[in-house]
Amino acid sequence: MALIVQKFGGTSVADTDKIKAVAERVMALSKQGHQMVVVLSAMSGETNRFVNMAQHMQSIPDPREMDVLLSSGEQVTVSLFAMAVKAAGFDAVSLLGDQVKIQTDIMHTKARIKSINADLIKEHLNSGKIVVVAGFQGVTESGDITTLGRGGSDTTAVALAAALEADQCEIFTDVEGVYTTDPNICANARKIDKITYDEMLELASLGAKVLDIRSVGLAKKYKVPIHVRSTFTDTEGTWVVEEDKTMESMLVSGVTYSKNEARITFAKVPDTPGIASRIFNPISDAGIVVDMIIQNTRAGDMTDMTFTVPRTDYETAMKVVEKTAKEIGAERVSGDPHIAKVSVVGVGMRNHSGIATTMFHILARENINIMMISTSEIKISCVINEKYTELAVRALHDAFELEKENIPIED
Ligand code: ASP
Ligand code: MG
Repeated sequence: MALIVQKFGGTSVADTDKIKAVAERVMALSKQGHQMVVVLSAMSGETNRFVNMAQHMQSIPDPREMDVLLSSGEQVTVSLFAMAVKAAGFDAVSLLGDQVKIQTDIMHTKARIKSINADLIKEHLNSGKIVVVAGFQGVTESGDITTLGRGGSDTTAVALAAALEADQCEIFTDVEGVYTTDPNICANARKIDKITYDEMLELASLGAKVLDIRSVGLAKKYKVPIHVRSTFTDTEGTWVVEEDKTMESMLVSGVTYSKNEARITFAKVPDTPGIASRIFNPISDAGIVVDMIIQNTRAGDMTDMTFTVPRTDYETAMKVVEKTAKEIGAERVSGDPHIAKVSVVGVGMRNHSGIATTMFHILARENINIMMISTSEIKISCVINEKYTELAVRALHDAFELEKENIPIED
């Protein structure tokens, strides 16, 4: 007998028939003697609908009331699910975030979990019930309802798996798992069987939208293996796990890209102490996250500073930097919102050289100009003109032979 946490996303519970089908799936495991904890999202589209309605009421909706509204979608699916289970002759109980005591901080609409009381869930499990928990929601110490940020149900599932010391945590979605690259761009993208938390964090933050990034961080912290898989098939999905020796032999695990990028360059800034701070402080004060930064020294005590920001923040950022440019005496500030970031990710590159050179060679062969480069232990990213994104992704996927199964190489 195992304790299994299963989370089903919005497309898996999109209507009452789908909820019934998911309940069948859970009951089959319950029949085998497993203890089942189910976490559900709202029906797909619901949370967006709530956001739109709120905007009709208040241009910037009150955060506390927003959370009362947003959390209601999950209340619908968990109750319907429990009914479906009961109708089939099994016992179930639906629980909301405040009933479980998923305690969070007070940051409405993006709250973080502080603690979970697993006792009530365990009691219900021990009395033979399937426990259905509303994803995405929690409660503050003073009893206000909070939500965990969009996509937050994944985090609920991982947090529950950690608190309950579950044997398995499965995230069911509408794709079969995590792919070596975006299957919409590259027809021979392959489903990855096993990937490390760190690789997943890089892929998730770079745009592989299968798992919410915070849930991966949490899973890494508490060593919860996650199985991401499809609701609509029985096929094994992708396991997100701790690193082991065999995984290192795979040099590159995936190629990913992001088009939500824009470049800003300060040209001819006086090269004196404090210049970086004067450039980046106002940007961070505006709540904009800077990603890559490159500083080039010019002759005559001058320097250029180039960096990237999310494209969605580009206009705000340009207003901020034009002001700064005047203040610090920069000759010029320019920007380009039509760039993309293409990255190759893999824990294997920690111990193997040559991945970066291969990447540069492939982009050169395709005649794609690299504007910026950044590296981490397990990732190499290049900024290129947005219009070559698909070409670059395909060429890199081919060059690293990612369509082939992992062939372990001993060294
Ligand atoms: N229903 C929430 C959302 O759409 C949470 C989730 O589905 O994970 O963001
Ligand atoms: Mg999701």
